Amino acid sequence: MINIAIDGPAGAGKSTAAKAAAAKLGFIYVDTGALYRAVGINALRRNIETTDVEGVISTLDGLSISIRFIDGTQHVYIGDEDVSVDIRLPEASMAASNVSKIPEVRAFLFDLQRNLAAENNCVMDGRDIGTVVLPDAQIKIFLTASPEIRAKRRYNELIEKGTPVDFDVLLAEIIQRDYNDSHREIAPLKPSEDGIVIDTSGMTIDETADIIVDLVNKL
Ligand code: C5P
Repeated sequence: MINIAIDGPAGAGKSTAAKAAAAKLGFIYVDTGALYRAVGINALRRNIETTDVEGVISTLDGLSISIRFIDGTQHVYIGDEDVSVDIRLPEASMAASNVSKIPEVRAFLFDLQRNLAAENNCVMDGRDIGTVVLPDAQIKIFLTASPEIRAKRRYNELIEKGTPVDFDVLLAEIIQRDYNDSHREIAPLKPSEDGIVIDTSGMTIDETADIIVDLVNKL
């Protein structure tokens, strides 16, 4: 199987570029952030603070999180419930960032990600795909962009969906999440040693996707 790992901070354009590249290549696109978001909203629904480590760990007992592809699009399930819309609620971002620091949560989601990559040609995006989940991926890319540009992209996305947001709040949250993700002890956000770093600040999604497709075609 051909596995492409795409990592980078929130708003670097990972998901849109990875999705576009996967479509051009005929590969599946796996968004692993959705899995951490599902663990996060599951805890919130049970009235457990996502900073309460023991509490979050207790929610993993008997929890079933899965991914299904419907018309080529990833849907995330908690048990039999499709939570693909709920995981995009603004509170799910920080919840995901909080639960993702917990080693038990990362271990809980590891096999699901590995199995998808073992069974499919895939473009998988996240924070630790090239470094931890798929260290043998044929191509590893680290996408980045300035915090302001990333906050602006998130802002435009949410406004388009009709979700009211404040730019400064989004920017502060992106900076906080960057800090959390790159300073955690386990699987911190960082480029893998054999990865290619691409700054997407001045690039369109299509340009970024084309770079990924070209790299795969050169394999
Ligand atoms: O990519 P997305 O913004 O949906 O991810 C939400 C959060 O999940 C990130 O801020 C990060 O803390 C966590 N995450 C992670 N490892 C991944 C994917 C996401 O820790 N592979």
